[in-house]
Amino acid sequence: MRILVTGGAGLIGSHLCDYFIARGDEVIAVDNFITGSPDNIAQLTNHPRFKFIRQDVTDFLRIEGYLDAVLHFASPASPVSYTAYPIQTLKVGALGTHKACGLARAKGARFLLASTSEVYGDPLVSPQSESYWGNVNPIGPRGVYDEAKRYAEAMTLAYHRAHNLDTRIVRIFNTYGPRNALDDGRVVPNFVGQAIRGEPLTVQGDGSQTRSFCYVSDLVEGIVRLLESNEIMPVNIGNPNETTILTFAEKINSLTGNKAGIVFRPRPVDDPNRRCPDITRAKTILGWEPKVGLDEGLQKTIAYFSKKIKGKQ
Ligand code: UDP
Repeated sequence: MRILVTGGAGLIGSHLCDYFIARGDEVIAVDNFITGSPDNIAQLTNHPRFKFIRQDVTDFLRIEGYLDAVLHFASPASPVSYTAYPIQTLKVGALGTHKACGLARAKGARFLLASTSEVYGDPLVSPQSESYWGNVNPIGPRGVYDEAKRYAEAMTLAYHRAHNLDTRIVRIFNTYGPRNALDDGRVVPNFVGQAIRGEPLTVQGDGSQTRSFCYVSDLVEGIVRLLESNEIMPVNIGNPNETTILTFAEKINSLTGNKAGIVFRPRPVDDPNRRCPDITRAKTILGWEPKVGLDEGLQKTIAYFSKKIKGKQ
């Protein structure tokens, strides 16, 4: 296959590029590096089946030759980064999705949109299934991401309905692993970085809010299965193992042997109280469920960050 990945230098995009290259596909990655990093694709840059284009995907995408699939993963995705780049986030969800759909249509390619659990906002039901319409504050600081992705889903289905584009939508829940950006403010790189440096972990609020963390290789497997399925409507991909942020902080301190403890910080505006995917559809339609346990995934992630942080010292 010849596959284009927007956001190919991000956490998930770069792991997808690795996966497709290892499988024998040809991959074109597009990224403008506002939140992605050249380090994430350094292992691929000289590969004969890999091509990188540095570009903002809100501009017209000019690609030579055929494409079998377009995977649209470009977007700031952590609360800190989409708050820092609010207009770029709205533009990449809106204009970027339009360009990526247009490219897929012109090439007769399949289109897969990376959507998010943030479409559910601060959910009033838990776990969240795909039939839930969400509880989103459109004008709060997170609205730039949530609404961009909700618009992106609407655009994707509009292309499907109006142009018969062959589309897929994955709703991605919290994902972690090697290549998480150390400075993007997400809880996994924050806590692991703090623990490795021997600092107290910064729990926001009282830590009773929950998240469910999926290791990146499980996520990639789910996305590939969705891409290869016939499912047009959104599918949640994430790990249903829900934990409070306080318990999560205690786990990181115990896995790293960090003695500095925990400090409490103010809670960000509109921070969702609960987040846990209902993965019934992924199980039944794709035969997918996560395999990597939290301890195993965290150990790999801690090893990656230790090397990175010690390399910088
Ligand atoms: N969080 C925290 N300390 C940090 C960073 C995040 O307690 O240093 C909390 C944050 O308030 C949220 C959860 O961890 O409840 C997950 O935050 P993250 O930024 O990883 O992404 P989100 O799941 O909110 O998109």
